[in-house]
Amino acid sequence: MLSVLGSHICLCHGSFVVIGISMRFFLIGRSWPCFLFFSNPWCKNNMNNLVLSLAPRFTKLQSLSLRQNMPQLEDDAVETIANYCHDLHDLDLSKSLRLTDRALYALACGCPRLTKLNISGCSSFSDSALAYLTSFCRNLKCLNLCGCVKAATNRALQAIACNCNQLQYLNLGWCEGVGDKGVISLALGCPNLSALDLCGCVLITDESVIALATGCPHLRSLGLYYCQNITDRAMYSLANSCVKSKRGLWDSVRNNDVKGLMNLNISQCTALTPPAVQAVCDSFPSLHTCPERHSLIISGCLSLTSVHCACAVQAHRSGRSAITHHAY
Ligand SMILES: [Zn+2]
Repeated sequence: MLSVLGSHICLCHGSFVVIGISMRFFLIGRSWPCFLFFSNPWCKNNMNNLVLSLAPRFTKLQSLSLRQNMPQLEDDAVETIANYCHDLHDLDLSKSLRLTDRALYALACGCPRLTKLNISGCSSFSDSALAYLTSFCRNLKCLNLCGCVKAATNRALQAIACNCNQLQYLNLGWCEGVGDKGVISLALGCPNLSALDLCGCVLITDESVIALATGCPHLRSLGLYYCQNITDRAMYSLANSCVKSKRGLWDSVRNNDVKGLMNLNISQCTALTPPAVQAVCDSFPSLHTCPERHSLIISGCLSLTSVHCACAVQAHRSGRSAITHHAY
């Protein structure tokens, strides 16, 4: 196979083998390639044919990145992957605008071991196909559905909550069909959720955030950009979720294992007031408004300029810049 493709081994390090095929893509594997990453423009422009010819030869492939700038991947390529690469754990199909539900149905049957799937920007997929996929791929831990406007509905989220209880990372950015019903299901069914992006999910209200604050104790990152129905009630529910587990939180701070929210984006949540957001900031030591850390994102909320993390206040008081403070 290697001679057919004119490839050569360009690096052999330990148990890993890296094969560069005219520097067009890289294969990395233990004894046999298990990681396939298409890198340069030539490769990206011939992606569909490359996948059709290569997938049958890499039956032990575990990780495959097919991220595209110019959408060209077709259903037949994904069907080939599903037919041959049953060990696939990690698949990136982002921006594959030409794919249809056929691709998801094929993956459901052929790649049940997926733990990480990125279909962001694949706006053609339907919610029934996504629900079907989750009923087979029950080990999913990371799922990126950003921009999957037709797929990420409440119905699909209910299926995810029911089937994928190990889910830790979920991106629902700009999925405008997502509402409280779906998010509440997630909060109940996915207790290990640690990162959830709901940016641009304009329908969600405080009920979603309250359910997450209650049901997802491991939540570290929450994106609520442009969720303009969110009010102070949601902020207080987050702050109180921390108080409830305060003992555990401070124990973990002592042990250098900081828990609680580490990233919160509430930009353009214009209904929020400073006391509620300050309460969240005070509850979670890892949330910062100071520039170097900036993990509490409040840009666009002009009314929130008085909200500061403790170290920013300290730096201000001592007349030193926050940069000096963080040098210690
Ligand atoms: Zn800070």
